[in-house]
Amino acid sequence: MTTNPMTGYFRNVWTASSSIFEGMVITLANMLRKPTTIQYPDRVPVPVVDTLPERYRGFLEADVNICTACKLCEQACPVSCIVIAVGKNAEGARGMTEFAIDISKCMYCGLCVEPCPTGAIRMTAEFEAATENIDHLVLRYVPEGGFVAPAKVKAALEMASPARGLLARAAVKRARVDAAGLRTALEARAEARAVAARAAAVAAPAAEAGAAQEAGAAPVKGAE
Ligand code: SF4
Ligand code: SF4
Repeated sequence: MTTNPMTGYFRNVWTASSSIFEGMVITLANMLRKPTTIQYPDRVPVPVVDTLPERYRGFLEADVNICTACKLCEQACPVSCIVIAVGKNAEGARGMTEFAIDISKCMYCGLCVEPCPTGAIRMTAEFEAATENIDHLVLRYVPEGGFVAPAKVKAALEMASPARGLLARAAVKRARVDAAGLRTALEARAEARAVAARAAAVAAPAAEAGAAQEAGAAPVKGAE
């Protein structure tokens, strides 16, 4: 059966017109609906941080005023991104001279938060720290040249701590100006610690084996 050429022509005209009409209906509907685009970060009605769930894991922060300097968090970290240095001041008092967290290495696992006896170290909802300089990702909670006396657990538990995220936000800003070279120094220290731990792990079984050998070689009383 042959198709009338005029019928085919009008069918094509109809198909083209209805396609254009359908497209224009969709365009018109999108022109009239409320936009869903968010002009992040400067034109949002509510800061994005405030819209995140309570248990969101952003940067860690440390409230050194309620920290006991026990270093449990530092020991718990599987990637050594927390560095706490404890020393003595001119009066001979013991305190923290460094408490820094390298958030470029942090895996946000939360293992450091678990053993903290006072809640001094905690996850926040903060996540904005984009930078071209990786040194800016070391958050320092004891200021450079600072000295913070360790808190007692009981007193620390009764002390009020700033709202979650404020200390991290301040630390991110501070890192832009005072963290130059700190990351390299912390990495060197963490590496030295890891090397020492590995050496101790190797030395301990060797010493045990040596002691066992000596005990085996010693004459048994009454055997001579
Ligand atoms: S969250 Fe995990 S990786 Fe990050 S500092 Fe704590 S223990 Fe280390
Ligand atoms: S933050 Fe907590 S776990 Fe870490 S040193 Fe301070 S008190 Fe100890």
